[in-house]
Amino acid sequence: MIKCPCCLSDLKVTHQDRYETLDEHVNDETPSLKDGYQCSNEKCTAYEYNGVWIEDGEFWIKEPPAGTSYEDAEKAIERGSLTGRTHAINSWQDGWERYREEQKKRTVSFNLFWFFVQFVPLYQKIEGIHEWRRTGKWRRTIMRRVEGRYVHFMTFWDIYFSELREYRQNYHGALSMREECVEIIQSMANNLNFWGKKPEKGFLRRKIARYVVCWIIYRDRTKIIMSIKNTNNEP
Ligand SMILES: [Zn+2]
Repeated sequence: MIKCPCCLSDLKVTHQDRYETLDEHVNDETPSLKDGYQCSNEKCTAYEYNGVWIEDGEFWIKEPPAGTSYEDAEKAIERGSLTGRTHAINSWQDGWERYREEQKKRTVSFNLFWFFVQFVPLYQKIEGIHEWRRTGKWRRTIMRRVEGRYVHFMTFWDIYFSELREYRQNYHGALSMREECVEIIQSMANNLNFWGKKPEKGFLRRKIARYVVCWIIYRDRTKIIMSIKNTNNEP
């Protein structure tokens, strides 16, 4: 049951109306007919200012009292709210905002030389209730300052695992003589660029990652694949 954010009374359906959700607004849909919930506690601020909620917790002013603007009515309810917010307690919106707030609080970010590093804890919605729980996983972002702005930065391990994946996706095909797979593995082993022409310059981390994958982990396979076509196959 969704509850009034000002007095925690159960909200009751009093009417139906075409309240437009953010989704409907973004997708340019005609708002569907929805149940309008209101507080029935006559001493409550939300009652006084005619606040309305829909099932997922989103908030509207039905019609402010005479002499009061929509904005003032909304502010009054916000001030009277126990959470400082206007959405209904116990709703999807309420759970989502609490989760986002907690996530923000637990996010760790810091600057390290010319890097900006951030760890964001990941959450998962609990089935059946409006709550999110931590998954124990984190999303890591590293940004590097280049000429006054931040760009995404891949660590050695990011590159290493992406090269490893590329190798694993192609060596079966290469060993069964599929030309495009042979080309990909040979380019990796020779550290050639995307077009397979020249050695890549500048990407030292990638060069090392490719060397480890091709010539340390999968050395035997690479040797066979390199002998398939006699191009510039020197490691
Ligand atoms: Zn109330």
